[in-house]
Amino acid sequence: MASIFLKRGRELSLFRRHPWIFSGAIEKVEGNPGDGATVEVYDSSRNWLARGSYSSKSQISARILTFDEFEGIDGGFWHRRIEAAITYRRGIKDLEGSTAYRLINSESDGMPGIVADRYNEYLVCQFSSAGAEFWRDEIVKHLMELSPSRGIFERSDSDSRVKEGYPPRVITLGGSPPPNLIEIHQPPLSFLVDVHKGHKTGFYLDQGVNRIKVMEFSKGREVLNAFSYTGGFGVAAATAGAKRVVNVDTSADVLDLAKQNFRLNGIQEDKAEFICEDVFNLLRTYRDSRVQFDMIILDPPKFVASASQLGGGARGYKDINLLAFKLLRPGGILVTFSCSGYVKPDLFQKIVADASVDAGKNARIMEYLYQAPDHPVPLEFPEGLYLKGLICKVN
Ligand code: SAH
Repeated sequence: MASIFLKRGRELSLFRRHPWIFSGAIEKVEGNPGDGATVEVYDSSRNWLARGSYSSKSQISARILTFDEFEGIDGGFWHRRIEAAITYRRGIKDLEGSTAYRLINSESDGMPGIVADRYNEYLVCQFSSAGAEFWRDEIVKHLMELSPSRGIFERSDSDSRVKEGYPPRVITLGGSPPPNLIEIHQPPLSFLVDVHKGHKTGFYLDQGVNRIKVMEFSKGREVLNAFSYTGGFGVAAATAGAKRVVNVDTSADVLDLAKQNFRLNGIQEDKAEFICEDVFNLLRTYRDSRVQFDMIILDPPKFVASASQLGGGARGYKDINLLAFKLLRPGGILVTFSCSGYVKPDLFQKIVADASVDAGKNARIMEYLYQAPDHPVPLEFPEGLYLKGLICKVN
């Protein structure tokens, strides 16, 4: 068995059960492990610490799989981890009646680099680390057994996989290939999902509970759903009785699916509008022509993907929030998100606060929002928290 020996003092994060070992923490590697092979991790005095998957290419040289010396990494290990992930989802009240949710969320479920999303009768998986790639066939076998599906599909084409040095792979792994669109139900909303070409595995499941939350604030309001993707928040607002919803995105394809989703939920055509434009530009145009709204939803893509992008990203968040505050009528609601893990919740709140000051508006926080509970955050892995949001009401 290959082994990794840590530099002196670098064992501390493992005492806290943090699952990543960065290349800079390693004194030496013995036994010439291949990518994805299981390695034993020792401190500088040769005390056993953990067992994980090795990667020669990643900045993260090992991802820990177990801190239990007696737990081997084999088929039984994956079987138990997948079973535990399934059991955990069964205990989440918010998922009751939902036909789409995240079944495996990587480190959150003790399975680094592995994602599996349920969309009705289909499972869509992503493998994005050396260990995930190494154990892929075994994992698929246990997934088929423990979470029976009409088809299991692989969408290993994420940026994080490319960063780890693996080419994209999109393929049916078992059963029938998924249809072009899968209809899912997240009560009381329904959506069509394109698992072949959609973002992530097809849908932003991490916003599931937040769409439902937004419904409480939507009745009778004129809503701007900025960065709409396939209409998620817009459909929620309209279903809850919004007067009108304007959806904006730069992608014509996602707007086409958004239109279908409004229809699917029985929303009258004259209640929704779909604009293919850059949100930054459109917000400025609205400001200049004094267009106003009663509710604005800002759910932009990740502006900060590395520490070096923090400054630019923070300016991006501030710009859109400032413009949104300006467009809100008195008593209006801002629902604003950041999915950049580097932007911590307190920093995000500061950015939004600065935006309100510069816009000359006072607002109060009515709700703190986070990623849905099928994307859990282990106590020992704070990096697992990436999505945060605020619902603010302007005076
Ligand atoms: N709120 C959505 C998810 C948004 S994902 C939901 O609930 O499903 C972010 C979206 O922003 C993507 O659809 C992407 O196409 C779009 N986008 C990225 N940059 C944009 C820009 N500058 N202007 C408008 N849309 C943009």
